[in-house]
Amino acid sequence: MNLVFLGPPGAGKGTIAAKAKDVYKVPHISTGDLFRANIKNETELGKKVKAILAAGDLVPDSVTIEMVRERLKEADAKNGFILDGFPRTIAQADALSEMTGLDAVVNFVLAKEEIIKRLSGRRVCKSTGRTYHVLFNPPKVEGIDDETGEPLIQRDDDKEDAIRNRLEVYEASTAPLIEYYRAKGLLVDVDASKSPDEVLSLMVKALEK
Ligand code: ADP
Ligand code: AMP
Repeated sequence: MNLVFLGPPGAGKGTIAAKAKDVYKVPHISTGDLFRANIKNETELGKKVKAILAAGDLVPDSVTIEMVRERLKEADAKNGFILDGFPRTIAQADALSEMTGLDAVVNFVLAKEEIIKRLSGRRVCKSTGRTYHVLFNPPKVEGIDDETGEPLIQRDDDKEDAIRNRLEVYEASTAPLIEYYRAKGLLVDVDASKSPDEVLSLMVKALEK
């Protein structure tokens, strides 16, 4: 199954992908996670993109496309993938169509007020990328990862100014992909306002059709 998860930041793409990867037995490839791993490991790529991520801007297409091209060549992606957060521009979508075919593009639909609530309450474990929410999906012990016991952090780009910018960037650069993929007959809209398990099940049913 070759899937793309589309939708505004905070719609729950990563949360659902973490569950859907076991349903479809394919890797969850998040370009945001790949960039954050490079930043953490202080690679050349990480140094180049650190300030871009903190501001909530988009990494240049050429850099992002090459990173995905290399990732899709890895053995675990041979039988499919869930791409989360890529493509985010028409140029990235055109490049992806030259790399591989797609079975569907899942569009996670969520109202703006809910997006802001989800992003501002998001907390993550830096080493594993596991995601929580202070109200909607709290850890067992406040501020601590359930499995590693490490302290949870708030992403730099989940602070107010960066959230505002990311939503503007989404509207300007990424939202046009909804009509791009609808025109190709690939788009599957999913109501992302329900609980994670309900969203997963709505998606699985919609993809069976
Ligand atoms: P995205 O990958 O689309 O940016 P995330 O999966 O990181 O979004 O989710 C954003 C925040 O919303 C996280 O704090 C997550 O715990 C929370 N969240 C995700 N899905 C749901 C849901 N269905 N209901 C309530 N909160 C959710
Ligand atoms: P995410 O974890 O998907 O919210 O992505 C975090 C940040 O990584 C974004 O705000 C961008 O700065 C960068 N990023 C992730 N995916 C892409 C992409 N496809 N194109 C450009 N920048 C990206």
